[in-house]
Amino acid sequence: MPLVESEAIILRSRAWGEADKLVSFLSRARGRLRGIAPSARRSRRRFGAALEPLSHVRLWFFEREGRELVRLSQSELIEGFWDARGDYQRSLALSQVAELAELLLPEREPSDKAFRLLLATLEGFKGAESIWLPLAYFQLWSVRLAGWLPGLQECGRCGKSLGDEPGYFSVDRGRAFCRGCRLPGMRTLGAASRRTVVEMLEKPLPKLSPEAWDRRRAAELGALLLDVIEYHAEHKLTTRELLDEKA
Ligand SMILES: [Zn+2]
Repeated sequence: MPLVESEAIILRSRAWGEADKLVSFLSRARGRLRGIAPSARRSRRRFGAALEPLSHVRLWFFEREGRELVRLSQSELIEGFWDARGDYQRSLALSQVAELAELLLPEREPSDKAFRLLLATLEGFKGAESIWLPLAYFQLWSVRLAGWLPGLQECGRCGKSLGDEPGYFSVDRGRAFCRGCRLPGMRTLGAASRRTVVEMLEKPLPKLSPEAWDRRRAAELGALLLDVIEYHAEHKLTTRELLDEKA
């Protein structure tokens, strides 16, 4: 039973049995995992506050052959990202980041790219006045890393470049269509949003300008990306409706 030491980000933790916690986390060394933190609800000696959702921690755990759940041994807080200001909308946005990470990152597949994306997103939330840019950035990159990002710059039917015209999109087509080719019921994605998609795929989050990223544009792109996620993952996101209601 080798002891693994790794940087990790806690995604979710909940009560397990009498005194334990079941913890879902993304580790740098082993990818996304779930494990038991023994006696974590009874004593804070070994884990302290370092099992709170969206904490960046150093984690020690045992992998057990043939067992799905690892056994957590110790956890040390590097930085906590949960927003204690009581802003409900921000909490929901952070919950959606955790939900997407749990849903989309495959278990036991280490990915430095995914780890750095999650950490950069949490840092983005910490500094930002507005939640919409870091949230959209995480949604977009999650879809990209899952290999589900549709073509958004040319018409998927006639091949014409969309240029400054809006694109029209539905998940079952997997491509944007031009005005001439669009079908009823397709979502619209404006030229400004499509330009921002290109920018977000080229630049790191701190280099993007939050002013260019208002709620309306985030909603337009987010609706499309979350459609793609729900369609491919065959899963209805619990945070989606709540966040839409608060918007
Ligand atoms: Zn067309």
